[in-house]
Amino acid sequence: MIGVPDPLCLLTVHAHPDDESSKGAGSVALYHAQGAHTVLVCCTGGEEGEVLNPALDTPEVHARLADLRREELAEAARVIGYDEVVMLGYRDSGMAGSEANANPASFARAPVEEAVERLVAIVRRSRPQVMVVYGDEQSGYPHPDHLRVHEIGVLAFRAAGDPERFPGSGSPWQPSKLYYTEFSVARFREVHQKFEELGLESPFDAEWRKRWEEVTPPVVTTSVDVSEFADIRSRALLAHATQVDPNSPFWFGLPPEVMRTIHPYDDYRLALVAGPDGSIVPPEPDAGGDGPVETDLFAGIRPAESISGEAG
Ligand SMILES: [Zn+2]
Repeated sequence: MIGVPDPLCLLTVHAHPDDESSKGAGSVALYHAQGAHTVLVCCTGGEEGEVLNPALDTPEVHARLADLRREELAEAARVIGYDEVVMLGYRDSGMAGSEANANPASFARAPVEEAVERLVAIVRRSRPQVMVVYGDEQSGYPHPDHLRVHEIGVLAFRAAGDPERFPGSGSPWQPSKLYYTEFSVARFREVHQKFEELGLESPFDAEWRKRWEEVTPPVVTTSVDVSEFADIRSRALLAHATQVDPNSPFWFGLPPEVMRTIHPYDDYRLALVAGPDGSIVPPEPDAGGDGPVETDLFAGIRPAESISGEAG
């Protein structure tokens, strides 16, 4: 519908090193394998992260944590198949209410226009057809940096193609689609059930499960089959050795061959679509009302015959 651009490019925006591994790693691996250029924008250095791997909780590790997190990110990006990692250059703002919130170098304290301009410059240089950011509903994990990713992601998507915005930051380029990466409640339920079936102790206690029942499940418009890349997330998470306990039942409690079979999809919500007339609007509501209508983030951008299982 928009012609066939060459090459395909996918740009994702994440808040901290390790977010790129826990969210959407399988789909990035898939698109990289299909030949798309994959760009990760990481907004902060993760300086406020704690050492969550008991084996690495040593003074030496704490002393070089910022460097280690950069190295871990590079390794995770290699595992996933990101062609480029671009740091937006802000400091981790820490969890809401923590002292780090007040640091003037923090992402949450940065002037919005400045952060948007930095992201617009990266978008204009990379020329992605598809951008992925976080959604507006983050009540389950309201980290200031994650909220900021949503805010600047939407603004940059709207500004990148506008010649009047940030004229000193590259030639205008309008990505076609903006997606939100979504957490799958269905996936958690299935993981919990598997623990019970196998007689293992589930890391999802009653408190967790109560939250699932109360939470309004996110709107998922797009489910990407990542079954061929189902181990990528675990492998990428393990690259963040200081941040991830390899014995964590939350991530690694089920045998890999079982884990691989559970909801092998990355779920997304299509949030904004850029039209040929310059409009930037939410997608047409799904006529059927229920369930994912797309199986490919590049649906409508590349020829349909190159997409398997297209449902739209
Ligand atoms: Zn994060």
